[in-house]
Amino acid sequence: ARKQGGNNHQFYTPQLQLVSLAPLSLETDLRYALEREEFEVLYQPQVDMRTGQIIGAEALLRWHHPERKLISPVEFIPIAEETGLIIPIGEWVLRTACTQTKFWHDGGFGFLNIAVNLSVYQFNQENIIQKICDILRETGLNPASLELELTEGSIVQNPEATRRIFSELKLRGIQISIDDFGTGYSSLSYLQQFSFDSLKIDKCFVRNITTDSKNAAITIAIIQMAHSLKLKVIAEGVETQAEQYFLSQYECDVMQGYLFSRPIPAKEGYQSKAGQFGA
Ligand code: C2E
Ligand code: CA
Ligand code: CA
Ligand code: CA
Repeated sequence: ARKQGGNNHQFYTPQLQLVSLAPLSLETDLRYALEREEFEVLYQPQVDMRTGQIIGAEALLRWHHPERKLISPVEFIPIAEETGLIIPIGEWVLRTACTQTKFWHDGGFGFLNIAVNLSVYQFNQENIIQKICDILRETGLNPASLELELTEGSIVQNPEATRRIFSELKLRGIQISIDDFGTGYSSLSYLQQFSFDSLKIDKCFVRNITTDSKNAAITIAIIQMAHSLKLKVIAEGVETQAEQYFLSQYECDVMQGYLFSRPIPAKEGYQSKAGQFGA
């Protein structure tokens, strides 16, 4: 092939190799990421609208890849789900977040709730309740301090199972939050079928809330509907004071976003006039 001349070498440029091998090697690397301790859980504060105090945090996973540095969960969670790796990884997140929160509780921040994202693949496991309870027992965290974030897509898949799991969780005082509310294609009928604690308004609705009348209308409708169903409302992606003001006017219960803090490493803790935790 070399004899054919100069052009052929382009197939061997590092760039091309990167393109063709990247997905596969990312998958391979993901298999070793847990044992190589490349994951980190960051914590993003959640602020109570009425008191302005921090009442909890959401656990958000990060992957420190040895060569590619930080990889976004948007990129690797789907691979983890396709390969089944989400099961051990998700358990590690839950255990890490519960351990950390118990540590904060013991350090005097007993009011902190911890919200953990649960993939549909985790949720569909036969023994999911057992696994969650084992982790709570192991770490000593009060079950009432744990909030599980599930997307509407994952709860409508198997209504029978969802009802059973939700009532088991409720029995133990664990809270359930519907994540990315309104971004899927589910009908609203599940709101009366299942009992849970809060709705989380996705940042795509909160964005431009003060300038985009459609986003504003959707957000107001979600808050009012949630409240008439006695559900708590959490707004995510709050970036500006104007957005905070808007949300407070419509009595959104909890806010989360860069306005208060980005997701931060546990050891940094969080300190502001809104309160503090950690470190
Ligand atoms: P999500 O559950 O909807 O999490 C909210 C995302 O919005 C996070 O992105 C967070 O960093 C980001 N965010 C927070 N405040 C703001 C803001 O003010 N402005 C903007 N533009 N963004 C903000 P992140 O951490 O990159 O996570 C992306 C998604 O990955 C999450 O979306 C969640 O679906 C998934 N994910 C993250 N950690 C886990 C995990 O441990 N398990 C599972 N199954 N999924 C996870
Ligand atoms: Ca979430
Ligand atoms: Ca989500
Ligand atoms: Ca979201």
